[in-house]
Amino acid sequence: MKQNSTDVVIIGAGLAGLTCAAELIDKGIEVTVVEAAPTPGGRVRTDHHEGFLLDHGFQVLLTAYPTAQKYLDYKSLDLRSFYPGAIIKGEGFSEKMADPFRRPLDGIKTVMSPVGSAKDKLLIGQLRTAMIGRSLEKIYQGKGMRSFDWLKDEGYSDTFITQFFKPFYGGVMLDRDLETSHKMLEFTYKMFAAGDTAVPAKGMGQLTAQLAARIPEGHLLLNTPVKQIKKGEGIELENGDTIHANQIVVATDMDFAREHVEGIPQNTWRGVRCLYFAAPTAPEDDPILVLNGEERGPINNLCVMSKVSPEYGTQDEELISISVLGDGLKLPEDELINAVKNHAISWYGRSTIEQWRHLKTYDIHKGQPDQSDQKLDEIFRDVRFGEELFVCGDHRETASIEGAMHSGQRTAEAIINTRST
Ligand SMILES: Cc1cc2nc3c(=O)[nH]c(=O)nc-3n(C[C@H](O)[C@H](O)[C@H](O)COP(=O)(O)OP(=O)(O)OC[C@H]3O[C@@H](n4cnc5c(N)ncnc54)[C@H](O)[C@@H]3O)c2cc1C
Repeated sequence: MKQNSTDVVIIGAGLAGLTCAAELIDKGIEVTVVEAAPTPGGRVRTDHHEGFLLDHGFQVLLTAYPTAQKYLDYKSLDLRSFYPGAIIKGEGFSEKMADPFRRPLDGIKTVMSPVGSAKDKLLIGQLRTAMIGRSLEKIYQGKGMRSFDWLKDEGYSDTFITQFFKPFYGGVMLDRDLETSHKMLEFTYKMFAAGDTAVPAKGMGQLTAQLAARIPEGHLLLNTPVKQIKKGEGIELENGDTIHANQIVVATDMDFAREHVEGIPQNTWRGVRCLYFAAPTAPEDDPILVLNGEERGPINNLCVMSKVSPEYGTQDEELISISVLGDGLKLPEDELINAVKNHAISWYGRSTIEQWRHLKTYDIHKGQPDQSDQKLDEIFRDVRFGEELFVCGDHRETASIEGAMHSGQRTAEAIINTRST
């Protein structure tokens, strides 16, 4: 059995662990990151498949995320932005909704469109103004309530909730029923309004690859699952080796953290399935999100990723990403592909969809921790579990790129604090 030693050992090379590592390295602290998977990134990774770039599920970076701004070099990520708005689709209707503050001409058409009543449009405009002016601290304060109930209390119509909020926030929070705390809705609404919605030209995996590149050679151990934490000693790997460390950071997902650290509550996961198709022509001309504005059909949202960044597609074929929530999570894959194609036929016609070629399906069971109302009453949950043990990850904050990265930053600061006192 080999014995190694380091100052701080971080278990998990997802956004939380990598951000924690970046901050500690910046302060001159020796760090070793130990990751079970063959590549860093955790839930934010991109596969190369037949010349296409396939993200592990449809994911976007909201450029207004404060912690992402601090640790990521946006310029070298070569970010490509989505159209600020969405297309709401159903059988026999297709309506474009634009952010009137960024696309004033399209915004006028939005005001005239049949999606949403005049009151809905007024309310959503007021929400945008309110969120731009409200600090994150203020949004995070107080008690959370079910997003659906909150929207009803605010006065939105049932039709608008079904046509817009359910598919839009269903996609963001992996929760079409809008059980998630309204704090998450306000937080993401603020972020959407305050910046761009974007992906790196070469895939979301560039985010985590950029952070991982900051770790000195020999200090990121891949294919190295951790078996257990040995308090006061370090960690034991599945292969029997031990890494001695002065301080340990558990930056895994919530399951490993709960099994190995006392005080991490039990929670459930929200899942999603993401299907990729190749097509000779794009069903939409714009880099825009298409939402299912009806309560039927398996598709929640669709996007032609090669319109957002051509690098996602190939010279001959476009790349289409489709997210499925709800009942579609349980279908066998061949039935799901047929159901998705039939749903897409009702939007784009048979002759278009017959040309689609299924590339791959990602079944993501562990997408995001459940964030229903009272679970988010406290946004900044403890990261310090003693002098030597720390826990970060999206289960310690909001289930988002920002939440994971900020929990990593807080953990690094807590470690630095133990050394200055
Ligand atoms: C499909 C999908 C869509 C999403 N969309 C968005 C979006 O659009 N915008 C947004 O802001 N957020 C989005 N999110 C949320 C965001 O991606 C996550 O909140 C974030 O990536 C979580 O990062 P993390 O570091 O906390 O955890 P993880 O990424 O899960 O990292 C944990 C790491 O620990 C490793 N690990 C686990 N056990 C061990 C062990 N025993 N030994 C060693 N290593 C171990 C894992 O392999 C993994 O690499 C989405 C998530 C999913 C799944």
